[in-house]
Parts: sequence; structure tokens; C-alpha cells
Amino acid sequence: MSNQPENLGTITVYGTQYGNLSYSISLGGSWRKPYDDGEHHETSAPPLNDNHNDPVSDPDIESIEIRVNINRPLKVEEKQAIDELSKAISRITIVINSIPDNATITLNNGHIVTGIELKQLWQKIDFDISEAGTTYLNGTQNGEIDYNNGNPIARLNINIVTSYNALNPPGGINYLPLHELAHITSAGRKSNQSVWANGKISPHDPAWSANERIANDIAKAIADFGGLAILPNARYGYSNPPPAIIVTP
Ligand SMILES: [Zn+2]
Repeated sequence: MSNQPENLGTITVYGTQYGNLSYSISLGGSWRKPYDDGEHHETSAPPLNDNHNDPVSDPDIESIEIRVNINRPLKVEEKQAIDELSKAISRITIVINSIPDNATITLNNGHIVTGIELKQLWQKIDFDISEAGTTYLNGTQNGEIDYNNGNPIARLNINIVTSYNALNPPGGINYLPLHELAHITSAGRKSNQSVWANGKISPHDPAWSANERIANDIAKAIADFGGLAILPNARYGYSNPPPAIIVTP
């Protein structure tokens, strides 16, 4: 077990939408100072909930943070979407931790995703939620995932979180973080790089679709492995048949 990433019990949600106070919700979250300096933080708060078998003094404990960087009160459906995102992350954490290290997903292009890789990335991922209309380096006003040398940051606009939360609940809100995680697996990164090698491309380019489908396939494989609901008709679709997680004894 020593080379296994820690089981994640803490999901912290915070932002400045209630004046200067940050808040955290549910699932063993803890109070944090407002996210105010643009730097990445890992919380040192111990997990409080029960899907965690490690001693709370374990120095390797990480948490997943959802940082809501919106300077106004959230609308009811936005708050609800963040709450549901937090729950989805908790469900996904349980599933990812249940994937054996040596399990593999072989994508249709032959590239392979491993269980240990998913665990290592998920252990360090955090989510930054921004105001609608924020534009990302990929040219969209949807979101992006930054590999950040293995300490990933998914950045999503609040309207995207809200709209995925409304799609086939909880399939849409499960899909969103899984899809972002998929993009920064080594297979996902290879695909990103080949698509972006010649500079910016249009979301209408077939190469863009192919890259998105790879992320969809990985997301679906994880969801199917854990019995999690996922969008039946994700944008850009899934491969047919979709690749699955294969566990070798
Ligand atoms: Zn994508």
C-alpha cells in the first residue's frame, strides 16, 4: 500500500462570494482563508469523513479543493451546482481509489491509461470556478485543465458547472471532472499536444473532436468501472465500442 496515493476524504469548497468570508461545505470540508493570492494551495486540514483509512497525521494527505472565484452572491442554481460538483468529486474519489494500480484503459489509438496514473493525478487535482465569460488559453469560455507538472488545476466557468449539473443528473456533473481529468493523463496530454502542435485550432476541426472523444472515452471507462452515472450523449461522443478499464490479476 505504500506506493498508493492517499484515499481522499476532504473536499474543500471556498470562495469570496460571501464578502470576505470563505466557506466550505459538506464531505468533511474545512474552513480556509479566502483564495486571494493566485497561488496554488494545498490544504493541510485532515479528512473528516469515513472513506479514509489512513491516520489523519499522515503527511501525504492531500485534499481536493473547489475554489469559487466569484465576487458576488451565487445564484441558487449556481450554489446547487457547486454542491453537486463537490458530491460528484467525492463519488469519483471513491471510484478512482478502487481502481487497481495496474489496471489499464487501452484507447482506440493504442495509448494506455493506468490506474496508478489516474490516482496520482486525482490526488492532486483542484478546481477553480470563474465567472461566466472568462476566456481560457484554449480560446473557449468554457474551461481548461492545466496539467501543472502533475499538480492539476481544472478551471471552469460557473455557467458550465451549472449547465452540466442540469444534464442527466447526476450524469453531467459526474462527467465534467472525469472529462477534465482525462485530458491530463499521459494519453490525454499526447493527444492534446498533437492537436495543438500547429497552434490554435477551431472546435469545429475534426482533430478537436477526436481529442475530446479521447477524454470522453477515459471518463466513461472510469464511470462504468465504478457504476457512476455519466452523460449518455456527451458532446463529441464516445467511441463505439467504448474502451473499458481492464484489471489484470
Ligand atoms: Zn475536453
